[in-house]
Amino acid sequence: MIRISEIFQSVQGEGFLTGTPSIFIRTSGCNLRCWYCDTRYASWEPEGSTHSVAEILKQIEGFRIEHVVLTGGEPMIFEALPELCRELKVRGKHVTIETAGTIDRQAPCDLWSISPKLSNSNPLGYTSQQWVRKHEAVRYAPQVVESLMAKGDYQLKFVVGSILDAEEVLEYLSHLRGYDRHRVMLMPRAIHTEQLDVQLSWLADWCKSHDLRLCDRQHIRWFGNRRGT
Ligand code: SF4
Repeated sequence: MIRISEIFQSVQGEGFLTGTPSIFIRTSGCNLRCWYCDTRYASWEPEGSTHSVAEILKQIEGFRIEHVVLTGGEPMIFEALPELCRELKVRGKHVTIETAGTIDRQAPCDLWSISPKLSNSNPLGYTSQQWVRKHEAVRYAPQVVESLMAKGDYQLKFVVGSILDAEEVLEYLSHLRGYDRHRVMLMPRAIHTEQLDVQLSWLADWCKSHDLRLCDRQHIRWFGNRRGT
C-alpha cells in the first residue's frame, strides 16, 4: 500500500527532463523535515489515503502520457514502490523517482532524481528537538546516494540559497565516489519568480566557474507556486 497525496498531469519543470509532459504521482509522508519544504501537505502534515498498486494504476490509465514521476514527500519510504515501478514499466512508462537519497531500494527506474539535503535544510526552530535530531541523523547519506547512482541513469539536484550552500555542495561532492560532474545540478531555493531571478543572478556565474549545471524551477515560472502543477 502507498499513501497518495495527489495524482496529476503537468510538465516537468526541473532537471534533464524539463519540458516533458508527465504524470506526477505524489506519495505522502517523509522521513525528513526540511524547514523550506514546499510540499508540506506530503511531508510535515501528510494528507491523503493509502492505495494498492492496482488502484494507483487504475487512476492513471486514462492519461495518454509516457513519462511518470514518482515524487513526494519521500516515495522511497514505501515498500510497495518497486512493485508500482515494475507495473509502470510493464505498461511502457518512463519512470522517474524523485528522492532525497536517504533510503536504498532496488526498483526499475529510468531516471533517479536524487536531491541530497544540505545543512541548510535543518528545521531547528520549526519543529521538535526530536525531529531536528532525526533530520540531522538521516539527511546525510552519501553511501545511499552512491548506491542509487549505481542503479542507472541519475541526476543530482542540490537546493541552495547562498554561496555558503554552494560551497557545501563542493564539500559534499568531495565525499561522494564515482559521480559524473555533468549530472550535478544546483537549484535555487525559491518559490516565486522574483526569488528565482535573485538567486539565479549569482548562481549562474557560480555554476559556470565551477563547471556544474544550473537548474531552474520552470514550473514556478509557467504555473506559479500552485499545487497540481
Ligand atoms: S525531503 Fe523533500 S518532501 Fe521531505 S521535507 Fe525535505 S523537501 Fe520536503
